[in-house]
Amino acid sequence: MTVLENVVLRLNNVRRRLNRKRLPPERILLLLPHCLQKKGCAALVGEDIRNCRDCGRCKMKELKEMAGRLGIRAHVASGGRDALKRALAPDIELILAVACAKELAEGIRGAFPKRVVGVLNSWPHGACVDTDVDVAAVERELAELLLPPEGSRDT
Ligand code: SF4
Repeated sequence: MTVLENVVLRLNNVRRRLNRKRLPPERILLLLPHCLQKKGCAALVGEDIRNCRDCGRCKMKELKEMAGRLGIRAHVASGGRDALKRALAPDIELILAVACAKELAEGIRGAFPKRVVGVLNSWPHGACVDTDVDVAAVERELAELLLPPEGSRDT
């Protein structure tokens, strides 16, 4: 991680602590990198994560299931430009981005002033191929960002 990336991620964490506003699911985008998809898998998850065939060889299966269960949109980005285009959609208020430090820092700067919460992916097979993410950590972040379901909200 470069010094600049480190500074951007730290500032973003401070910003996050200052703004804990919860949002309905339709205002949140779960942005995923294409390198999470198992190399060689032909499922067109970049078009729609629901095209994942649930074989379980990568985390797309669990992420698809979680996004569906929580009612949030998930997009598998082909690259930084595609990710930014989705993040800047007017109806999106907050982006939960799974990314490496470099992509996350770029995304935070590009999407500003929108809120971006990041979960770093890991590289068990080297950079940008068959990367991994802790799905439970992603869900924990979402639990802090989402408004409680309608029936359980305070009146
Ligand atoms: S879980 Fe989905 S995206 Fe991952 S390898 Fe299997 S079919 Fe492909």
